[in-house]
Amino acid sequence: MNFFREVWEAVNFFIFPPRCPNCKKIVDEPHQFCEACHEKIFRVDFYDRPPAPIEKVLRVTKYRDGSRELLRNLKFDNNLNVVPVLKKILDDVSKREEVLNLLRGVDFAVVVPLHEDRFKERGFNQTEKIFEDFLAMNNLPVKNILKRIRSTPKLYKLGKADREKILSGVFEATEPLDLSGKKILIVDDIFTTGTTCKECAKVLESLGAEKIFVLAFAADFGDNLNH
Ligand SMILES: [Zn+2]
Repeated sequence: MNFFREVWEAVNFFIFPPRCPNCKKIVDEPHQFCEACHEKIFRVDFYDRPPAPIEKVLRVTKYRDGSRELLRNLKFDNNLNVVPVLKKILDDVSKREEVLNLLRGVDFAVVVPLHEDRFKERGFNQTEKIFEDFLAMNNLPVKNILKRIRSTPKLYKLGKADREKILSGVFEATEPLDLSGKKILIVDDIFTTGTTCKECAKVLESLGAEKIFVLAFAADFGDNLNH
């Protein structure tokens, strides 16, 4: 059996070699980026201006050069085929010092919630899909303690002032909670102006949370201006 499976895998590998998810160049392993794309996409760094009450914002990719297309595939085309690629990116950075530093002492994670209409329309919360294995691997429980009480238009074309107006008060706690002394990690797929995460953080802070961090899959820290 094993012999045939190995032959089949070898044939398959020959006919459909793994390709870089961004530029389609042939690579060694499935879901792996080629060296040039890896260099462009991965950017594990802290934001130097985290919006209060958020203390730290860490991203793992820039919101461009392939990561933007992958996320748009997932969010706007409901294409779940890109999830293994996104998970592999998180897996590749999970032992980085910045990531370990961020997760140290965190009690639990909160996934930025979708409004229930959006959830029904899409069928899944894309951020949860991206981060579920990563959070489980790091023994971080996910608590769904926030809900989105209003449906908002798609924000990606709006500027910061419009986003702030639209998103103000859009999140609420699902139940009365005391989060005193808790260190909470908000995970989000895309961090651009930071308004969404900031609104979530404000609710957590009002419930007593001691420290609030953000881990964003992709973020624009002002380095996309020439793009
Ligand atoms: Zn490539």
